[in-house]
Amino acid sequence: MASEWVVAKKCLYLHLPLALTSGGSFLYMEQYIVSARKYRPSTFASVVGQQALTGTLKNAIATDRLAHAYLFCGSRGVGKTSCARIFAKTINCTARTPQGEACNQCDSCRQFNENRSMNIIELDAASNNGVDDIRQLVDQVMVPPSVGRYRVFIIDEVHMLSQSAFNAFLKTLEEPPSYVVFILATTEKHKIIPTILSRCQIYDFNRISIADMVKHMQAVAANEGIETEPAALNVIARKADGAMRDALSIFDQVAASSRGKITYQATIENLNVLDQSYYNRLVDAFVAQDVATSLLIYKEIREKGFDSQFFINGLGLYLRDLMVAANPATLTLLEATDDVRQQMAERAAKLHPTFLYKAMSLCNDADFNFRQASNKQFLIELTLIKLCQLLSPSPDESGSDEGQMRPLESFTTSSPAPHPIDIPAPQPAPAAAPTKAPTPAAPAAVHAPVQPVAPPPAATAYSLGGLSLRSRGASAAKAPTEPSPAAPAPVELHRSKPYSDADVERAWGTVRRSFPAEPMLTGIIEAAVPARKDGDSFELAVGTPMQADIVGKQLATINRTLRNLLENDSVELTVAVCEGEIPPAFWTDAQVLDHIVANHPAVGQLINKYKLRLD
Ligand SMILES: [Zn+2]
Repeated sequence: MASEWVVAKKCLYLHLPLALTSGGSFLYMEQYIVSARKYRPSTFASVVGQQALTGTLKNAIATDRLAHAYLFCGSRGVGKTSCARIFAKTINCTARTPQGEACNQCDSCRQFNENRSMNIIELDAASNNGVDDIRQLVDQVMVPPSVGRYRVFIIDEVHMLSQSAFNAFLKTLEEPPSYVVFILATTEKHKIIPTILSRCQIYDFNRISIADMVKHMQAVAANEGIETEPAALNVIARKADGAMRDALSIFDQVAASSRGKITYQATIENLNVLDQSYYNRLVDAFVAQDVATSLLIYKEIREKGFDSQFFINGLGLYLRDLMVAANPATLTLLEATDDVRQQMAERAAKLHPTFLYKAMSLCNDADFNFRQASNKQFLIELTLIKLCQLLSPSPDESGSDEGQMRPLESFTTSSPAPHPIDIPAPQPAPAAAPTKAPTPAAPAAVHAPVQPVAPPPAATAYSLGGLSLRSRGASAAKAPTEPSPAAPAPVELHRSKPYSDADVERAWGTVRRSFPAEPMLTGIIEAAVPARKDGDSFELAVGTPMQADIVGKQLATINRTLRNLLENDSVELTVAVCEGEIPPAFWTDAQVLDHIVANHPAVGQLINKYKLRLD
C-alpha cells in the first residue's frame, strides 16, 4: 500500500494522469469504471441470460421458501456472484416491488448498494481455503443480523476448500442458525463432495448465449454513446466464450482503441481474430476446386501473422458452423445472432452436407497431425489441396444417389478406391448405415441371360470400336442425365476438347473407382466398357434390366465425370440391355452373382450391407 501512495504522489507531482492504481481503489482525474463493474446487474431482471433461474429464485423469495444453502454452478462470468448478491439484497429488502425485486430505496437496500451492509459476507475460497478461514467464518455465523432478516454468506470457488476446511464447514452448513443463508458458488461442480451437494439446493447457470451478450453490449454501448457494428459485437461475444464479464472487458478494450465506434475491422485487428471473409473465400475456392487460390489465401493468412494451427482450427470450426446452419433443426447449435445465422444458412444451402463432413474431417486430421508434422506449412497446404478435391465424384459413403452433390460438382482427379477385400470379417453394420435393397429384377432377367461382357484386365488395352458390334435390345434403359432441377446448375462454358479412345479408357478407369460404396454398381461397370456409337455418343451394354436400372441411377454422375475428365461436354453415355442367350456355363462371375441376386434379393441386401464386391 505504501508503494502505491508513493506512486500516486509522484504522479500528482508530475501532473501525470493516474487513472487507477493496482488496487483499483485510488482514482484520480475522471473516474473510469470498467463496464463489467459499472453494468453489473443489480436486479434479477437485469441478469443476462439466466431468466429461468432468476425466476425460480424470485418465486422462492416471494413465497418465503428459502433454503439455508444454495449451490450456484456454472462457468466463470455467467452471473453467479451477481445473483448471489442480488439474492442477499432482495431477501433483506423491507419493501420488495410487486415484481419480486429489491426496492433499492430502503435502508437495507441502500446499505447493500453502498457496499456497507453487514448482512453479506463474501469469502473467496480460492485464496482462503484453510481450516482457520472457515473457523473465522463459522464464528461470524453465530452473530445475528442487526438490521434486516438474513445474513448471507457467499463462498466463491467453494471447490477450492481443503478437505479439512470442508469437514470443519459441514456441521455449520447442515444446521445453520435460522437467519443464515449460505450461497456456495463454483465453476467445478464435479469437485464438490457429495456431502455438500446433498445439503444444498443446486442451481446450474447457463453459458450466456452470443445473442444475449450482443444484446447486452448493445445496451451498454447505447448508454456510453458508442456506435457499434453488429458483426463486431458478434466477434467479441464469440471471443468471450459464454462469459459476460469477459465480453464486457473485451468490449472496453476495443472501445478504448476505437474512439467511439466499434467496427468489425477494428475489432478483428484488436483481438487478432482472423477475418471470416478468408474462410468464405476458402470455401468458395474448395467448391471451385481452385487449388491455386486456396494456397494463395493461406499465404495471405500466414503473412498476416496467423498461426497455421490456429487457422486450420478456425477453418474447421467455420465448416462446422456451416454444417449446423445447413439444417433448420440444428441451426440453434450455431452460436450467433439471428442475422449471422441467416447468412450462414444461406451459404450452407449451397453446400452438400457430405462435403462439409469430409472437409471437417480433413481439418480435424490436419489439427491432429500438426504437432508431429516436421513441415507444418506443407501439411496445411496438402490439406487445402485435398479440400479442393473433395467435390470430385468420389465415393459417397452414405450410399445416397447422385444429384445431391448439388451445384458444386465438377471434377479434377479421382480419389483412390479402397482395396477390394475378399471376405470381410463379419462386423455389425453401423446402425445409421443405410441399407439399400436391390431393385427387384424383372422376371425376364432371370430367364434371359445375355452375352457375356468380359471385364477387360486393367492392363490390357481394349478397343472401343470392337465392342460396338454387339446386338442390343430395344429395352434400353436410359436414365435422366441431367442433374435434378432442384440443383442450380453451375454456369460453365461448353467444352469440346478432342479425345482419343485411350483417353476414354483412362476416364472409364476412374469412373470404375468412383463408387466403392456401391459394390453392385461397381461390379456392373467393371464388367462393361462404353462403346462408341457415333461421334460423342457412347453406350454401355449391360446384361439385365436390373443392371441397367442400377447404372441408370448414377448415370448423371458417370456422365459428368466422363465429361470433366475428357473436358468435353458433348460426351453422352447411355445404358442398353444386351439381348441374346448364352448358356450359364459362359457367364462371368458378375453375371452369376447377378443371377443369384435376382433370384434371392436377400443376397443383394447382404452385399450392400457389408459392401461386398467381387474380386
Ligand atoms: Zn429495499
